[in-house]
Amino acid sequence: MLDLRELYQELIIDHNNNPRNFRALPPPASKVEGHNPLCGDKITLYLRVEDAQVKDISFQGVGCAISQASASLMTEVLMGKTVSDAKALFQNFHELMTASNEEALPDCGKLQALVGVRAYPARVKCATLAWHTLEAALQKQQCVVSTE
Ligand code: ZN
Repeated sequence: MLDLRELYQELIIDHNNNPRNFRALPPPASKVEGHNPLCGDKITLYLRVEDAQVKDISFQGVGCAISQASASLMTEVLMGKTVSDAKALFQNFHELMTASNEEALPDCGKLQALVGVRAYPARVKCATLAWHTLEAALQKQQCVVSTE
């Protein structure tokens, strides 16, 4: 039997070492910067939405393994999704990271890899940084997002 927690950690290490969609997108893609001052994580998220669908999404950044792996996983999961699916995933992922009832956590598929972060409340912002940045990008705010 594979230890699932170990598998999830491997997925985080893999995404940190080989981040997916790690590139810039030219305009008219939205470009939004996210910053988690608690840990020093920075990401720049690029998002191209057409017909309410994520046509392309990418990021660049520096920071801890959790922040970069979370951003990489997020771009992989959201590619091709509708905007409403993306918003629903954000809600589910936020609940996965912050809900107090361990018994009723949502199923987030691949994003479940980050569930171990729950045990380290100070690091939850590392995992959610990319998603808060996404939320701003979906609202087409051309600004710098901070988790503080
Ligand atoms: Zn971090």
